Amino acid sequence: MNARALLALGAVVLMTLTGCATAQPSVATLEDGENPYTAPPLPNGAEFATPLPPVTDPEPDCGDPTASLRPDPAGPMPTVDAIRARGHLVVGLDTGSNLMSFRDPSTGTVQGFDVDIAREVARDLFGDPNRLDFKILTSADRLRALEEGSVDIVAKTMTITCERRQTVEFSSQYFVAHQRVLVVGGSGVDGVDDLGGRTVCVARGTTSLTRLQELLPDARILTVPMWSDCLVVLQQHQVDAVSTDDTILAGLASQDPYLEIVGDSLGIEPYGIGIPPAATDLVRFVNGTLERIRRDGTWTRLYDTWLTTLGPAPAPPAATYRD
Ligand code: GLU
Repeated sequence: MNARALLALGAVVLMTLTGCATAQPSVATLEDGENPYTAPPLPNGAEFATPLPPVTDPEPDCGDPTASLRPDPAGPMPTVDAIRARGHLVVGLDTGSNLMSFRDPSTGTVQGFDVDIAREVARDLFGDPNRLDFKILTSADRLRALEEGSVDIVAKTMTITCERRQTVEFSSQYFVAHQRVLVVGGSGVDGVDDLGGRTVCVARGTTSLTRLQELLPDARILTVPMWSDCLVVLQQHQVDAVSTDDTILAGLASQDPYLEIVGDSLGIEPYGIGIPPAATDLVRFVNGTLERIRRDGTWTRLYDTWLTTLGPAPAPPAATYRD
């Protein structure tokens, strides 16, 4: 053994003997004195948000952000042909958003409203709704995955905005959610106006975070990678509230009877299927599927399967087109 190898071995023995006393904790912890009890660690990747910088560039204005491209079954379809030749559709989604996309603990399969929308696209592509390959994404990963083309579509509670449309494409809207607030019942918080001086959990890379910072510029906001992380920190009393789309909040509340959604809508969140920027033929194809499921009753059946906790099924949201 040479001298360098001996040194390395010595270091390993020393670290083992000292129990790695100098190693840094891999997760953030609450500041001392913040809780009257020993605080459990925060989820990996949790960080307090820094305040929004002063607005310099105005929000991009693309007119109606939900206006998409009309279905055109007779047009050229290079992307669609390539997906069909590959034999499966690569779908970016999350497995921690109960009701929308989550892993069913009893079967281990990925289920939910967004998953079923993706299945309908696969049905029209292959005549088989099961030809899906899932790629798990956090909310903040969605845009990059589409820009890089590492997924064919993103089906993950993704709000259509002018800003996002600068770099990716969207289908027509297939659901209209509302941002609201989730708290422990009886907490005294009845809506966003009661959140001053409280701590709110939000996933990074979301419209929920931007809207909350606009509404409550001084709020203390804990940002995390996944919405399921927000459930844990709310249950552990490390935050007072979670704020995002009612679809996601209802999924968190369905896992804990102590939680309740409070207050009015903070604004609408129209969902579209995210599509890589150059794949306009795929946009038209997906819009054809969405037209079919609005028309043939599938959309209402899927709503009734997953989302009746939000109220009785509304009419499917109508498509608007820009061409
Ligand atoms: N609809 C919001 C968004 O697209 C939040 C949903 C999510 O994080 O999945 O940013």
